Amino acid sequence: MSFASLEGRTALVTGASKGIGRAIAQELACAGATVVVGYRSGKDEAEALASEIGGRAIQADVSVAEQAKQLVEEAGDVDILVNNAGVTRDGLLARMSDDDWRAVIDTNLSSVFYTCRAVTRGMMKRRAGAIVNVSSIVGVHGNWGQTNYGASKAGIIGFTKSLARELGSRNVRANVVAPGYVKTQLTDVLPEEATSAMLGNTPLGRLGEPGDVAGAVRFLCSDEASFITGGVLLVDGGLGM
Ligand code: NAP
Repeated sequence: MSFASLEGRTALVTGASKGIGRAIAQELACAGATVVVGYRSGKDEAEALASEIGGRAIQADVSVAEQAKQLVEEAGDVDILVNNAGVTRDGLLARMSDDDWRAVIDTNLSSVFYTCRAVTRGMMKRRAGAIVNVSSIVGVHGNWGQTNYGASKAGIIGFTKSLARELGSRNVRANVVAPGYVKTQLTDVLPEEATSAMLGNTPLGRLGEPGDVAGAVRFLCSDEASFITGGVLLVDGGLGM
């Protein structure tokens, strides 16, 4: 067996049609897991990815409780849940609309509550399971213009630590990965000056690649991490230390 093998496990990854989620789905499949590719609007990309990695694509808007529950049910007996779906609606607090607040909290945080609630019963019964929730360095340190996003990502950390305490006795683990700045469509929109400033503060001197986050997720899902729960693993090139 290879290091961090996930042979024989079923993994559900939300927001897996592109970016970091896509890389996580590929990495977990590479580790031997059967992967369910959750997507909202990227049908063609999700289906192409599912056929590439021998998995299944299932559509669901995870910000809607009923759809998130349905996604977990259709995925079957899930051994690994990775909550990766996320959005930004940046803006200064004074001008932030209720819609921008709710869209980010519902998509990034409430979705984690919905899917975890749906998946834990089966995991507890089987006395095995690994959950990884994708937060952000912004949830740890905050960021200008991201009160909604920062609240959602900090919320994920408090949620996951609490869940880890609830589920530990059933051998179900829950951890967080908190990426720094990773090259995806989410960060493509950042102005040049913001990217340069970040690079200047990053000891490793580069932006992250989706695969950097995927490797950390694979590790946390595997038996090599069997004594790790309630952890927050920064994958940020040293930016947040
Ligand atoms: P991305 O390329 O924009 O991908 C976001 C994914 O989330 C897409 O697959 C999208 O699905 C899905 N999604 C959005 N809303 C959804 C909903 N309501 N229901 C289901 N799926 C939904 O972003 P990314 O950079 O890969 O980000 C992935 C995660 O990493 C996010 O949680 C983000 O906050 C976090 N993160 C990213 C960075 C970074 O620098 N990129 C840093 C820290 C944390 P569709 O396209 O199918 O609609």
